Amino acid sequence: AAEEPEVEEEIAEEAETEAVAPAPSAPKHEKDFYPYILIGAGTASFAAMEAIREKDPNAAILIIGNEDIGPYMRPPLSKEMWFNKDEESTEKLSFKDWQGKERNVELQGKEKIETIDQETLEKIESVESGVKQLKGVEVTNLSVADQTVTLNNGKVLKYGKVLLATGGVPKTLPVLQGAGADKVTTFRSVEDFKKLHALVKSSNKKIVIIGGGFLGSELAVAVSHYGKDKGVKVTQVFPEDGNMGLVFPRYLSKWTTSQVEQEGVVVKANSRVASTKPAGDQVEVTLESGEKIVADHIVVAVGIEPNVELAKKAGLELDEVRGGVVANAELQARQNVYCAGDMTSFHDVTLGRRRVEHYDNAILGGRVAGQNMAADKLHKPYQHQSMFWSDLGPHIGYEAVGILDSKLSTVSIWTKKPTPEETPAVAAEKEEGKRERATATPLPAEAVKVEDKEKYSKGLVLYLKDKKIVGLLMWNNFGKVEDARKILGQVYDTEKVEALVKPFGIHEE
Ligand code: FAD
Ligand code: NAD
Ligand code: NAD
Repeated sequence: AAEEPEVEEEIAEEAETEAVAPAPSAPKHEKDFYPYILIGAGTASFAAMEAIREKDPNAAILIIGNEDIGPYMRPPLSKEMWFNKDEESTEKLSFKDWQGKERNVELQGKEKIETIDQETLEKIESVESGVKQLKGVEVTNLSVADQTVTLNNGKVLKYGKVLLATGGVPKTLPVLQGAGADKVTTFRSVEDFKKLHALVKSSNKKIVIIGGGFLGSELAVAVSHYGKDKGVKVTQVFPEDGNMGLVFPRYLSKWTTSQVEQEGVVVKANSRVASTKPAGDQVEVTLESGEKIVADHIVVAVGIEPNVELAKKAGLELDEVRGGVVANAELQARQNVYCAGDMTSFHDVTLGRRRVEHYDNAILGGRVAGQNMAADKLHKPYQHQSMFWSDLGPHIGYEAVGILDSKLSTVSIWTKKPTPEETPAVAAEKEEGKRERATATPLPAEAVKVEDKEKYSKGLVLYLKDKKIVGLLMWNNFGKVEDARKILGQVYDTEKVEALVKPFGIHEE
């Protein structure tokens, strides 16, 4: 599913052909000078680090992150981690991936990352080849003119090339202040996961999740599933008509909501929080409709603000429309300053200026930034289209490329009568805990009206802008990302739609 094997191979091959053999004696650098400094120890920095070392095996890289953990994946925190039945392995931040393989959220690759503290950093007299990481350290200043970064203890380091990959900060709502800080959490990090997991583990907790986007919807399903036999009750509140209402066309968002409800979530669509106040050990949430919900905890998932504080202070150009730092197609913001991941507004040569908040974009963009940082002259544009995917309960799984915005006009093509092999059921849990893609589990009859069931089991939604196809959503239809990439940017023509959708195996009977 998802990211095609061909693409992984393509990237691996590219790495092989471009890799430079290590020099017999790697160069050493003067005290406090690092040829490569990566700010933020997230997904994008990790990918950039690997790409730099592939191109320049002698590279001395310093990663600086303000979390107390090495680079890790966030996607499992709202999905797989909640489906892992083995609490001991959950404690270790492990989970079973979609192929049933035991994994850990910490990103692991070929490179050894040596963790150092600020004291050790101070003692390094000459900087040698290798990857070092400062954990729990904030970069407070970036000077483009001096090519320096300043750490929270005042220490100044000089860089050759710097990567800004500072991700995003979850937003919150002023109306939640009434609840008291200990009753409200945003959800972004491993620490946030641990906190919510510990809370839900004890019985009969009532959780209110605010937000109907990617995170709110995934978390509502995951927490409800995890807490089913613990008496946990999840209520999800958001202003749109249905789950993923800003992303999916209206009918599909409605259908998705019915599936989220099937997982036991009480969905309050078309709803906003009017006020919150403590109620004994709990909190009372009043909706604008006047309805009151008493809960043990509130999780806010109302989007992120790209983290541009450092960039702003450094005088980098910011994108007033999309948020984030403005970079060119080569992911360069200024001379020797590169950007990748959630906080980057880049020029997509196919679809125009964009900012993308997904994992694969952090990986692919991070790689391109890293390759360009290590390149002598020729910079390559970031033009490989990233993808994203999500599962929402046992009957909905999707993958997508390009721009998915429910405000765009869409054309949807659905399989009318799915064969058993085509029925949705994506992440059907097997006894041994293995989650399988595309196994045939027919929808329960009560899940959805008969005509809807036939309509929305397997399909393709095309998102159009100025007659061009700018986004593709593959619904319960896996392994088609490469085909979708080929179609992105093409002019939409009703006459040719049949030929267009042929690779997607959607046939009307
Ligand atoms: P991050 O991973 O956020 O890393 C940035 C790091 O920089 C952070 O650790 C931050 O603390 C640190 N930092 C910031 N400023 C400083 C500073 N001044 N000094 C030092 N350190 C600093 N995407 C998908 O495509 N699919 C999914 O299924 C999916 N699921 C998700 C689930 C959850 C729970 C969350 C939160 C996100 C999910 N995403 C998913 C989004 C995906 O995780 C992000 O797009 C990705 O993490 C972006 O990577 P990044 O490197 O840009 O930023
Ligand atoms: P990986 O090591 O990059 O990913 C490990 C974990 O990260 C996954 O289990 C998942 O939780 C998360 N993840 C990875 N890519 C993601 C994406 N694009 N969107 C959301 N979450 C993502 O990669 P891997 O596990 O070795 O998988 C190889 C490829 O298969 C990846 O490129 C990934 O895109 C894809 N994949 C697909 C699915 C799916 O379709 N359900 C699940 C996991 C991974
Ligand atoms: P989002 O941008 O996907 O959704 C924001 C949601 O906030 C909206 O759908 C809306 O329902 C809600 N909202 C806005 N104002 C509100 C208000 N006043 N009251 C109630 N609700 C309000 O952001 P998110 O869902 O918070 O996700 C956080 C980040 O994590 C995003 O960058 C997202 O892309 C990423 N993420 C991605 C995946 C995936 O790709 N599968 C999964 C989880 C998280």
